[in-house]
Amino acid sequence: MPYKAYKDTEKTQLIYAKDATIQDVGKIFYCSTPNCPASMSIVSAASSERAYFRTLKKSKKHINQFCVADGAFNPIKYKESSFNFDDVSKKLMIASTSSSKNIGKGNSIVSGGGGEKPISTVNQIYYMCRKYHSYNGYSTNQILADERSFKIYKNGIEGNKVVQCTPFHKFKDEYAYRMNYPSFPYNNGKHIKLNFYNEELYWNFHNKVKFTNHKNLIIVLGNWSIPPKNDFYISECTICNNRQIHFLPFSK
Ligand SMILES: [Zn+2]
Repeated sequence: MPYKAYKDTEKTQLIYAKDATIQDVGKIFYCSTPNCPASMSIVSAASSERAYFRTLKKSKKHINQFCVADGAFNPIKYKESSFNFDDVSKKLMIASTSSSKNIGKGNSIVSGGGGEKPISTVNQIYYMCRKYHSYNGYSTNQILADERSFKIYKNGIEGNKVVQCTPFHKFKDEYAYRMNYPSFPYNNGKHIKLNFYNEELYWNFHNKVKFTNHKNLIIVLGNWSIPPKNDFYISECTICNNRQIHFLPFSK
């Protein structure tokens, strides 16, 4: 669900979804990725905040997973001024042990109607970062490590971050996964390590990964650290809660 596309098959006239008009509804647009043959149409052209491009049913396939990774973030649904990345990160990373069922009850999370609550899930954070350079004062490349911020993070990811990656393989004799950052394939791409707080969390992840392939983008919120120098991975984190992980829809 990209926010930009070309108007012409030669790919010379770029148009942003927010600038599309009612007159553009029903027209065919072309994927902004060089050499990608996919065609799209505009959705929600009447609202610059909500507009995005959607792949046509009769379209040829996109050539890579980034073409449609943006999703379709609707800012009207969330209260931007209440977004606090560290607060939401802490809530999502609370260890999900059987005794933790009551965690969160009675605290002061605002729960108003539509548009009253801030972003609260990993996929909402990811889609917001894919759409905006800044949000409630945050520079979104300080929140999300993906292919666009690879230059910043290629030597290590530290602290609370959302990371876009794809599965590579299980670590031998460990309940841990090696992942490709920012994707596979990727020129000079790196690896990161996912550790799991308990076996249940590991198996939950493993049972989802086995139905994907190495190109399926997975979004992981973690408190990342850089290991003592090794050649296997640049950063690692521990998954304490299933809510730290989101599988993007797989389009191939
Ligand atoms: Zn494409």
